[in-house]
Amino acid sequence: MSNELNQCCCASTSALTCEKEENNLCPICKTSGVKAKNITVKHLVSETLTELVGDTDYYLCMDEECDVTYYNLESNIKFTKQQLKVPIWFKKDANPKYACYCSKVTEEQVINAVVKDGAENMKDVLKFTGAMKNAQCQKNNPLGKCCHQIIQDAIDKGLSIK
Ligand SMILES: [Zn+2]
Repeated sequence: MSNELNQCCCASTSALTCEKEENNLCPICKTSGVKAKNITVKHLVSETLTELVGDTDYYLCMDEECDVTYYNLESNIKFTKQQLKVPIWFKKDANPKYACYCSKVTEEQVINAVVKDGAENMKDVLKFTGAMKNAQCQKNNPLGKCCHQIIQDAIDKGLSIK
């Protein structure tokens, strides 16, 4: 069972599975995207574009250099990073670079908490920055997921330059 799960689709003989995977590819940079729920996309695109989002789910382009953020290949709708209300943290020149979208805490603030205030772990950082206080990740985080991992990455970054 677990073997099957770990298998890359392209290693399987089913052409159908492969095709499905290809459907995730960003129309511009052709890297594979990560699923994003409709509610997340609706909440993050600029007010004037909300209607265009419709009722379908989207993919988020994970390429740092690519201007495309959310896209849906069936409806052929895509949004660039300029069409969103918030910067996507992993995209080039994101400013501010949020680690926690719900409490609007930036990566820099987390790193500062580690380097300047002496925070050593997640608990300290949350105390110093107020991150994850009013968690509404499904709406606020671009992937609709808890920002825990992004904060942890920022803590690691801070610890490594301390
Ligand atoms: Zn892209």
